[in-house]
Amino acid sequence: MIDLWNKLPLNPTKKFKTRRLFQLEYIIVHAISAENWTPQKLNALCTGVDATPDDFTDDLKDMRNEPTCSYHDYIRADGTLYHIVDYHIRTWHVGNWNTKCIGVALEYKPKLNKGPSEAMMATLKNYLAMACLYLSIDPRKIRGHRELEGTGWYLRKGKKVLRKTCPGMKIDLSLLRDDVMGMIEGIEEITSKDSIKPFLRFT
Ligand SMILES: [Zn+2]
Repeated sequence: MIDLWNKLPLNPTKKFKTRRLFQLEYIIVHAISAENWTPQKLNALCTGVDATPDDFTDDLKDMRNEPTCSYHDYIRADGTLYHIVDYHIRTWHVGNWNTKCIGVALEYKPKLNKGPSEAMMATLKNYLAMACLYLSIDPRKIRGHRELEGTGWYLRKGKKVLRKTCPGMKIDLSLLRDDVMGMIEGIEEITSKDSIKPFLRFT
């Protein structure tokens, strides 16, 4: 992965919180709902540093004013993987779940008939397998944002109501977990040549 930790600006007006490895439990997959966005631009939307609302598309003009980028890792449409925020930092992406979660975001705008690119999914699976191995996370604890109670869905009169479709309904999250589990069991099939240094900094 391309390591951008300490290379992108943080929000000087907000303090981030840190955490220890043993507190980590889940990896959450998101979509950024935008296309052709560099990690610099995503970081600017989340932190508000060096940016104005006009720098973004109409439906994403609400800058987040968060301490850091919302996501630890970012996968672009061509499959390039960027590490934006180190894992000991608690980022803001899933409300009450933040302390125990890593966030990874896909560069695409989900639609009913449109899922992420094949290159993105291939990188995502390799990334998830490596993250599970290096950070000792159970692959059954990979989640899509929409699967989290509270931030993704809630109960109303005993029925589940979806608040989010993130990371897009075309992503079959059960299948994703199965695929990653399969890769971990046959460890040699993990093909990524990406750097693992960011994982090692958190062990
Ligand atoms: Zn999300």
